[in-house]
Amino acid sequence: MLDIIHHGGATGVTGSCHQLVLNRKESLLVDCGLFQGEDEAEDTFEQLQIEFDISTVKALVITHVHIDHVGRLPYLLAAGFTGPIICSIPSAKLLPLVIEDALKIGFTRNAQLIERFQAQLEKQIVSVPYGKWHNVVSDHTGANTDGKGRTTRVKLKRAGHILGSSYVEVSYQNAETGEKERTVFSGDLGAPYAPLLPAPKSPYGCDQLVLESTYGNRQHPNRRQRRATLKTAVEQALANGGTVMVPAFSIGRTQELLYELETIIHQARSAQWQSLEIIVDSPLAARFTNVYRELKPYWDKEAQRRLRSGRHPLSFANLYTVDSHAEHEQTVEYLAKTGRPAVVIAASGMCAGGRIMNYLKAMLGDERHQVLFVGYQGVGTPGRDIQQYGPQGGWVDIDGERFDIKAGVSTISGYSAHADQKDLLNFVKRMRRWPHTIRLVHGEQSARIALKAELESLYKRKGKQVRVVNG
Ligand SMILES: [Zn+2]
Repeated sequence: MLDIIHHGGATGVTGSCHQLVLNRKESLLVDCGLFQGEDEAEDTFEQLQIEFDISTVKALVITHVHIDHVGRLPYLLAAGFTGPIICSIPSAKLLPLVIEDALKIGFTRNAQLIERFQAQLEKQIVSVPYGKWHNVVSDHTGANTDGKGRTTRVKLKRAGHILGSSYVEVSYQNAETGEKERTVFSGDLGAPYAPLLPAPKSPYGCDQLVLESTYGNRQHPNRRQRRATLKTAVEQALANGGTVMVPAFSIGRTQELLYELETIIHQARSAQWQSLEIIVDSPLAARFTNVYRELKPYWDKEAQRRLRSGRHPLSFANLYTVDSHAEHEQTVEYLAKTGRPAVVIAASGMCAGGRIMNYLKAMLGDERHQVLFVGYQGVGTPGRDIQQYGPQGGWVDIDGERFDIKAGVSTISGYSAHADQKDLLNFVKRMRRWPHTIRLVHGEQSARIALKAELESLYKRKGKQVRVVNG
């Protein structure tokens, strides 16, 4: 069985980076993500350095462009990685935007250096269509067989998590020894019935599966319930004359939320709803939304139907984008003072930095406002503290200052664009050939333990054998 080394993302939810060892000379890297929240070490710089040997790495495969899956890419390039960076066609459009942002925030402010990195990145990106096998090349001849009959191919399939997201099938064949192995890396799997993107379909089968487990111990409410909760939160803000602050990742969740809000506004038809301002306060999110709009062929059937009926799910009349920093400060002040009902979507998703912080500082202490969590809040992040202590009238520490939480706090888990326990089990169940080894990654320990137990009992019921490796 091929060896898999985890350089992050095995015992925590962030920092995903898995190395599939093909032989002593060749390996593949799947994702190269940044550590966030609790997973972040004291000495961040050390954690960012690529400390493992990359001389055998023939290619990097990117499952999707969330920062916890691609954020260490600049460091990988800095360490001398010159191989292909394989990803889906939409990911290839999004990746340079994400990396540019990551470079500016955490790596360097040197514009020349950023430009050089970007140019190098563009050169190394190899976009591949969904569902097609791609030979992993180690040179420019296009063939991988090194004369001894070893072939390694990868195939990306839609993961339904964010635009461009994929799970990865790796097929390894050694004609000399007759060895044959299929490995699947789930990346982050989306939930079925998520807005905008079609749900993932399971692969035919594999020997080894590296499976995410973010919500390995949770079941999401269904979409109708989710939309109702969103509507209620916004209606409360309308009644109170307050702002709904939604900390969200720029990619994925922001667009899902816009899609859902457009649905509610379209259905509500009341003057109050029609006048509600939806504000995306993030230049980056606005750029991603543009790419989402460009890539309509990747939307699911429902979204396509809406387009045909003349609706514009991601660019409707009440939608405003805040761009410059000055504009951002004005918006915070204006909303905090006037109590004009609005929904503000801003990064970061876990309230660990980003423009959402200024909104929180200005509005947490005012009960007219609401914080609405739509995604996973990592342990140790201010987001988690607000989520946990807010409803009990507690406080949160932001940048060393104490803020009392009087604003309402609610959580909707279904918009997280992550499969829940049932979906994760279905991913395995719907394969024709079940894996004999499953490595659970990308989850807190409680989630991994719960999912491991469920998987083991699933196999037992079917009289099959499995080894579930926990982290
Ligand atoms: Zn993700």
